[in-house]
Formats: sequence, structure tokens, C-alpha cells
Amino acid sequence: MSSTTNCLKTIGSPSLEELKGSPGFPDEHHMKKGPIAIIECIEAIPCNPCETACPKGAIVVGHPITNLPTLDVEKCIGCGLCIAACPGLAIYVKDYTYSDTEALIVFPYEYYPLPSIGDKVTMVNRRGAEVCEGKVLKINLSEKNNKTPVISVSFPKKHFEEIVSMKRI
Ligand code: SF4
Ligand code: SF4
Repeated sequence: MSSTTNCLKTIGSPSLEELKGSPGFPDEHHMKKGPIAIIECIEAIPCNPCETACPKGAIVVGHPITNLPTLDVEKCIGCGLCIAACPGLAIYVKDYTYSDTEALIVFPYEYYPLPSIGDKVTMVNRRGAEVCEGKVLKINLSEKNNKTPVISVSFPKKHFEEIVSMKRI
């Protein structure tokens, strides 16, 4: 199956090509410059809490509310406040510059049990396939996150583009 048939409509998750053509997906340069939000929201649904959650005005949905969210890569500081605000779990933050050998991902995780800090976990791509091992660095259970745990995991930099979450434990 080609990458163009592996798309949102055929298998329920977007292809990298679809995402790269969407306004919430940072370009390659900004993606690797430092911590930045990545928005995988490519269906025109009436939704905009990501817009109001961002203290920097880096996400714009505007009018009509069915617009796809647009990320302003110059304004985003990768703070992650938009992650738990998204009811569709469509936003995560990645940092390519985390260390010489590892990248960081901060993502929503609504499964139990939760991992513990220091755990080795299995990282997955957007199809849910296992890719590599990661190390849990932080579990954010802040009240502000509407009961959505937000987890930070480091993983080998060479898998930066593929990783979107961790496998359930
Ligand atoms: S990571 Fe922070 S600055 Fe970037 S879009 Fe999300 S809330 Fe805004
Ligand atoms: S909150 Fe999430 S689902 Fe809603 S528009 Fe923003 S990114 Fe899309």
C-alpha cells in the first residue's frame, strides 16, 4: 500500500504527507529548532480550546470554528499548555534539541495504570507500531490539565519524526 493510501480516510490516522500539508504541523526547520507544539488535527470539526489555551497566541482557529488550527511557529515556545486542552488528544510537544543523542516528547496519556518516573517504556508511531524504547522523565497531573495526564519521555533522536506516543502498559 502506498503512503497516499495510508491516510486518514482509509486507515483512520493521518499520513505524514497529510500532516505536513496541514497548518498545525511545523516545518522541518522549526520542528528541529527547539521545543514546539505539533498539531495533528486535519478534520474540519467545530472545536477551538487549543486556541484559547495558548498563552502566546500561537494557535489560531478563528472563524468559522471549523477552521483547522494554525500554529504560528515563531510564537510557540513549546510550553505544552495546549496539550491537555485538546479533547481530541491531537497535540503533543517535541524537542529535538533535548540532548546530543535524545529527543523529548510531551504527550497526553489517558490510560491506566500510568507509568512511573524513570520507567523504560515502548514508544510508538502514529499507527501504534512499536519503534523504540523511551525513558519517562515527568508525569504532569496538574489540576489545570482537566484530568488528562501529560507525560514527558526521552527517546533516541534518530526516531524523532516517527514517535508520537508510548504503548499502553
Ligand atoms: S506549546 Fe505553548 S506556546 Fe506552543 S502552541 Fe502550545 S500553548 Fe502555545
Ligand atoms: S482542540 Fe484539538 S481537536 Fe480541537 S481544534 Fe484544537 S487541535 Fe483540533
